[in-house]
Amino acid sequence: MSDCIFCKILAKDIPTQVLYEDDLVMAFPDVSPQAPEHILIIPKKHIPSLAEMSAADEAIMGRIVQVASALAKERGFSEGGYRLVANCGEQAGQSVFHIHFHLLGGRGFEWPPG
Ligand code: 5GP
Ligand code: ZN
Repeated sequence: MSDCIFCKILAKDIPTQVLYEDDLVMAFPDVSPQAPEHILIIPKKHIPSLAEMSAADEAIMGRIVQVASALAKERGFSEGGYRLVANCGEQAGQSVFHIHFHLLGGRGFEWPPG
């Protein structure tokens, strides 16, 4: 998708610090961090939102969760606890329509979220 900012990051048209990359996913720091650790984990495949994923995308989603768990351990905030969030749709606050999971750590979090 030529007008998708995360596809541009994947294509390296927009320079980003790559924290993790494999055949299915990439992880990089959020440009506007909401916690001491705020990482975005995205599929390489352009899927606009969770509402548009299909059963064929199951392996991608499994990989995202596995990478989140591994990154939290590797970066030392797993034990303290963290949050893995995907906003789906405008009402939930989704602003970039390429699936992404926010991995947030390094501070306490409230529940329920706002
Ligand atoms: P959403 O609101 O869709 O759940 O989350 C989108 C996230 O993408 C926001 O936290 C925002 O800060 C982040 N973001 C938007 N544009 C860029 C960008 O160009 N680079 C990076 N690293 N993050 C971005
Ligand atoms: Zn995209």
